Amino acid sequence: MKINTKINSKNLSVGFIGAGNMGLPMIKNLIKAGFNVKVFDWNIKVTKKLDKEKIIAVNNLRAIAKSDFIISMLPNTTDVESVFNNETGINQFLSPGTIIIDMSTISSTSSIQIGKILQKKQIEFLDAPVSGGVKGATNGTLSIMVGGKKEIYKKSLDILNSMGKNIIYAGKSGMGQIFKMCNQIMVGSHIQAMCEAFALCKSKGGNLALLRETLIGGSANSWMLENLGNAVIDKNEKAGFRIDLQLKDLKLASDAAFEGGVPLPGLSLVLALYLETRAHNEGKNGNQSLFKAYDRMTNQN
Ligand code: NAD
Repeated sequence: MKINTKINSKNLSVGFIGAGNMGLPMIKNLIKAGFNVKVFDWNIKVTKKLDKEKIIAVNNLRAIAKSDFIISMLPNTTDVESVFNNETGINQFLSPGTIIIDMSTISSTSSIQIGKILQKKQIEFLDAPVSGGVKGATNGTLSIMVGGKKEIYKKSLDILNSMGKNIIYAGKSGMGQIFKMCNQIMVGSHIQAMCEAFALCKSKGGNLALLRETLIGGSANSWMLENLGNAVIDKNEKAGFRIDLQLKDLKLASDAAFEGGVPLPGLSLVLALYLETRAHNEGKNGNQSLFKAYDRMTNQN
């Protein structure tokens, strides 16, 4: 549910780290909402793109360290750890009272640890991973799952509302990441279920577009079927969300399950199928490319 708060966004500065597939549209929505945004991305190609879009880009972390809020949207746990590092990262330049919102999908354990390190410097940290893909980031309709102190979550609502629609307080530090892992378990299973149904239909000479329309109208419908079903049918491998990132998330979920002693056999199966696609050098494809594994298994290229 969208919650309205009455903070004057024009007075607040936001330093944003990581302007990739997700970060860039999120940055645009923050600017649209009136925040003063400065962006750091270490990829020069990305910086050039920002210049073209007239978005303020800086070339080092220090230049955004005095922002009221700092948001990170980075690929992996190690990227977030290196940015929020006391010796080599931005931490040495931060002031007490700064609020950091990490919106990347990373390890829950690592997220808790980063939060503890920052708390020693009286810097607040929320884990706030998202769901909804590039489409959700562009439309400002992301689901955002927030872990950390509730009062800091409340202070951050104006910012989060400008990028998302469902802003959920998941609980203590690290819980946003746990919610996101649960989300990814279901994402993987839904894609796998769709590919499996398509593989059978295709093997019998059925019309996949018609099957998709049929299933959308019934109890088998899913976000995957609606948003990625046509990409599977058209063999469109373009990435919104890369197989590499999907594998990263499934591994995070698998590690957390192992830590907790929770057997998740469905997750293990989906993880193995995604590893099969990566072994075929398809890691840069969109996650819908799991269908290629099914085409191989059924010799239906
Ligand atoms: P991306 O690779 O497109 O973008 C990441 C950006 O961060 C790149 O521009 C890269 O140059 C930059 N970067 C990496 N390390 C950096 C560093 N140390 N300092 C500065 N910049 C750095 O990735 P993405 O698809 O935008 O995903 C970002 C995060 O969001 C990931 O954790 C991903 O799992 C999660 N996510 C992605 C999607 C999606 O559909 N793409 C959906 C939900 C969640």
